[in-house]
Amino acid sequence: MVRESQQPPRVVQDACAHEHVPDEAARNDAGQTIFPALMTGGVERAYKLDLKLGFRCNNRCTFCVQGDKRDYVEDLTTAQAIERLEAARETCDGLLLTGGEITIRDDVPEIIRAAKSLGYKLIQVQTNGRRLAYMSYCEALVEAGATEFNPSLHGHIAPLHDGLVGAKGAYNQVIQGLRNLQKLNQKVLSQTVITRMNVMHLRDIANLLVHLGVWQVQFAFVHALGTAAKTWDQTVPRYRDVQKHLPLALDLVRAAGRSTVTEAVPFCFLKGREWAAVEPGLPDTTVYDGDVRIGDYARYRLEAGKAHGPPCEVCTWQFACEGPWHEYPDRFGWDEFVPRTDPPPSKSQDTP
Ligand code: SF4
Repeated sequence: MVRESQQPPRVVQDACAHEHVPDEAARNDAGQTIFPALMTGGVERAYKLDLKLGFRCNNRCTFCVQGDKRDYVEDLTTAQAIERLEAARETCDGLLLTGGEITIRDDVPEIIRAAKSLGYKLIQVQTNGRRLAYMSYCEALVEAGATEFNPSLHGHIAPLHDGLVGAKGAYNQVIQGLRNLQKLNQKVLSQTVITRMNVMHLRDIANLLVHLGVWQVQFAFVHALGTAAKTWDQTVPRYRDVQKHLPLALDLVRAAGRSTVTEAVPFCFLKGREWAAVEPGLPDTTVYDGDVRIGDYARYRLEAGKAHGPPCEVCTWQFACEGPWHEYPDRFGWDEFVPRTDPPPSKSQDTP
């Protein structure tokens, strides 16, 4: 049974760059209404469905926002997944298939075929990228109807990536997967979670992704929930360090003529590169997470996930800025956040 989310628990949101519903919501008793304020009107405006097929995974990422949900949330069956596709089709044209790691199940081509026959125009496969090392699997996904791929790469060398995802050999698999997609001429939007371990290597990671033909490189600031909350000291970087290294990566990608975006990096740390912030351009999204449904994820993200603090009160960009995931200032405070005094852009300017 799918439950409508209705009442935002104070806190929560994701980073895997993958919208995520908090543990608290997934664990509520069946039938209990949760996140009430967030449901009104959301469905009508949504046009992207974020469908989480389950939380099992063949990685053990040190920054995983889903934490140990793999241990207590049942994966959707194929029939349940298709039911959700049918239910959301009325309002959603785009589909993001995510988890957990969806490619460890064998029914993904079948689910994609179902989505295609229902008329979804965009079908994105979000993955840790390991199974993409098999060309025949890539071909099966493309043949089924996948229109774009969103694999993750968190390091420019094997020890860094494999260490962050807790799986030896994962780096080589992702690299092979990216080469396979390049050979198949597929649209690839990569995902890199910014952590304390890779923040100084973002430019190197960007360089590698550009050379592997990635169309859009996304850098998402880690969201300190799940495993990331437990590994905080090794995992969560300071924004001041992100501010030092991220611009070099963004500039490299842009100079190569590719697209690049950031997630959960407030505008006070993006001076001169505000164009990279993904949030203003995010589509309205309906999220299915376990047996919980959030009809208006953007509203949920703003009300329950992100935060503004004292510096934001005098910041000229406050109305354009979602602020950081609240866990960061909850732990580190607001001293790093220096309010902007320059005028924010008008809608006609160079913003996403
Ligand atoms: S609103 Fe707050 S978080 Fe956003 S740019 Fe301004 S000071 Fe930074």
